[in-house]
Amino acid sequence: MSDRFPGRVAVITGGASGIGLAVATRIAAEGGRVALWDVNADALHRAQASSGAAFTEVVDVTDASAVEEAHTATLAALGPVDILVTSAGIIGPMRPVADLPFDLWRHIHAVNLDGTFLSAKAVVPGMRERGYGRIATVASIAGKEGVPGGAAYGASKAGVISFTKTLARELAPAGVIVNTIAPGPTETGMVNDVPPEAIERMRSMVPLGRIAAPQEMADLICFMVSESCSYTTGAVFDASGGRADY
Ligand code: NAD
Repeated sequence: MSDRFPGRVAVITGGASGIGLAVATRIAAEGGRVALWDVNADALHRAQASSGAAFTEVVDVTDASAVEEAHTATLAALGPVDILVTSAGIIGPMRPVADLPFDLWRHIHAVNLDGTFLSAKAVVPGMRERGYGRIATVASIAGKEGVPGGAAYGASKAGVISFTKTLARELAPAGVIVNTIAPGPTETGMVNDVPPEAIERMRSMVPLGRIAAPQEMADLICFMVSESCSYTTGAVFDASGGRADY
């Protein structure tokens, strides 16, 4: 495969592990200069060594001023941001709505939805000004289907889908392309929080018959943030092994 990202500056939130790390590794391998933003300092340290990322910043994406500071530091270290992938996210404990504490509902929204908004808000003015940008948000099949016990997660990911569609319309005149991916269950640290019987139930719903590898998500996301993705914006790219065939 030829290098698709020579000299491109890419910010990957949640880039210290899982899907974000797989994306970061691929972009760096294809010539991109990658900044990893993540709340987990230890994981970030390991990820920088393994991924070839040029820059890391410990940042909680729910904190508006911390995200602004991370953006300023990234600009100083690498220059203007061409690519944003918002992979920072949490699933949280599975609880039926009647047992879901309001604080937990709000925290899951803060990370998954506020974090996506704040990260995009930081990079959008520069992309618009330069007339180029690629943004890939990370939603979930849970944002399209109801999952018992996953109301907060699913609602936050439905919010990510809607946010992405609006941002795509706002930025289309400036030549900035914005899409989202809706993964099904993927083998990352996140599924450690899900009970084994729930994982088996999810696997049995996948026509391709298996849980995805993070690399398979990275393959699709890297297309979404490449120059080749030039005539699709505001789309939800399915990555559910055939489950969400709609
Ligand atoms: P992961 O836990 O391996 O990675 C998530 C990363 O986000 C971690 O490095 C974590 O430290 C970081 N993070 C969490 N809270 C943060 C915060 N407040 N600020 C900054 N960073 C924070 O999980 P993953 O599976 O790679 O998840 C990546 C994205 O994919 C998430 O948005 C998740 O919802 C989505 N997703 C995952 C699956 C799956 O089955 N793994 C399925 C659908 C969607």
